[in-house]
Amino acid sequence: MADVGEPLELESVNAEGTMRIGRAIGACCVAGDIIALDGELGAGKTQFVRGLAQGLGLDPRQVSSPTFVIVQEYDQPAPGSDTESAIEALIHIDAYRLRSAEDLESIGWEGDGSAMREGAVVAIEWASLLGSALPADRLAVRIEHEPSDCRHLSLIAQGRWRARIAQVREALAP
Ligand code: ADP
Ligand code: MG
Repeated sequence: MADVGEPLELESVNAEGTMRIGRAIGACCVAGDIIALDGELGAGKTQFVRGLAQGLGLDPRQVSSPTFVIVQEYDQPAPGSDTESAIEALIHIDAYRLRSAEDLESIGWEGDGSAMREGAVVAIEWASLLGSALPADRLAVRIEHEPSDCRHLSLIAQGRWRARIAQVREALAP
């Protein structure tokens, strides 16, 4: 397979643990990044996006599941945050009802989505449903349900994320 690094395997014991992983990734993001999330209903994809928002300096309370609207954009800074970031917004997509490149266009995503991603980070729930419509350059996050509140997260860095995954690993080292 092309340009895919070794997965970073992580355990989360509660919802805050999943947010912490999201935060660490958010702190490593640059404008134009794609975070591709997969995992069954209730796995914690939206919970992860709350942490991601925090890591980007945005208020996590804006984050809710975009299941019915398909796409939401968050641009309110976290209270007290004074970070001057090149990332202006987090775009949160729920691909559950999107199955094709044409469906993506219906929410304003054209080609590799670069126009939509300008100045923003894009997080996509149910990303694998988009198949090859999704650019290869992305961080894939697979969340698996385990007994009680535990979750297993596999982070798979592709393209330009490969050079940055070590930063995430370090930020999460115990
Ligand atoms: P999804 O978006 O994958 O459908 P949500 O993030 O909306 O899932 O919901 C996950 C639910 O599971 C939340 O109610 C959250 O509080 C709970 N939860 C319990 N343990 C965890 C954990 N370790 N990680 C993420 N969520 C957890
Ligand atoms: Mg969700």
